Amino acid sequence: MKYIGAHVSAAGGVENAPQNAHDIGATGFALFTKNQKQWHAKPLSEENILEFKKRCEEYGYTADSIIPHDSYLINLGHPEKANLQKSRNAFLDELQRCEQLGIGLLNFHPGSHLNKISETECLKIIADSINWSLEKTSFVKAVIENTAGQGTNMGYRFEHLAEIMEQVEQKDRVGVCIDTAHTFAAGYDLSTEEGFTETFDQFNEIVGFDKLMAMHLNDSKKTLGSRVDRHESLGDGLIGWKPFELIMKDARFNGIPLILETPNPDRWAEEIKKLKDLIK
Ligand SMILES: [Zn+2]
Ligand SMILES: [Zn+2]
Repeated sequence: MKYIGAHVSAAGGVENAPQNAHDIGATGFALFTKNQKQWHAKPLSEENILEFKKRCEEYGYTADSIIPHDSYLINLGHPEKANLQKSRNAFLDELQRCEQLGIGLLNFHPGSHLNKISETECLKIIADSINWSLEKTSFVKAVIENTAGQGTNMGYRFEHLAEIMEQVEQKDRVGVCIDTAHTFAAGYDLSTEEGFTETFDQFNEIVGFDKLMAMHLNDSKKTLGSRVDRHESLGDGLIGWKPFELIMKDARFNGIPLILETPNPDRWAEEIKKLKDLIK
């Protein structure tokens, strides 16, 4: 079973996300559970929660097919104490929102060193942040996304993901999300069958498929190894259709949300259909 969807809008309330996902033929989806550009959000109401759960059930979205993304403001590897705490508090709030909604996964970018500390120190702070937050919640899993390595962002090597997870205490509550555009921009050539095989062999060796909890399916506007994060609609960028075809036919990517974050929402229904057709 493949859960194929997109990062849909939750404008007007989280309960609108399942409807938006259903409208494009998605079998899984991602969302923001609060405004991603603001630090504070009002708590979810009892009504938001009940409606969200009701609609997910109605449309058949199970807990393992939904993966919220946290706010872009959060930096769990922040080198400065006060700012780090601000990020940790916001991350905890996001985890708690997931638990209120009955969602078992939260996807986030690991963090940035801002040229003030070393990469190793930054990875340790990120792991400490995850430990701090997981201690205060009960079941939601922290899903670390690989990045393009833009600016001082960590997470552009599979080794970074492994190094963070190694330092997380609750090993059964941490995993990873692999974004195809980020992987390509970070220098892993998954655009050809040979490169795809090589990339995911490396991934399996360093991180392990048992840790893969979601994928972001995006083509890339930027070249291999550019370290620049610019998504493109599937097939229109420098990656092309090959890896998406391979993912659809590969059972190692079953049972996890496969989420489009491509730039044109008007094309999501068509992209999802095309992905589904590749399985047949
Ligand atoms: Zn992504
Ligand atoms: Zn991206």
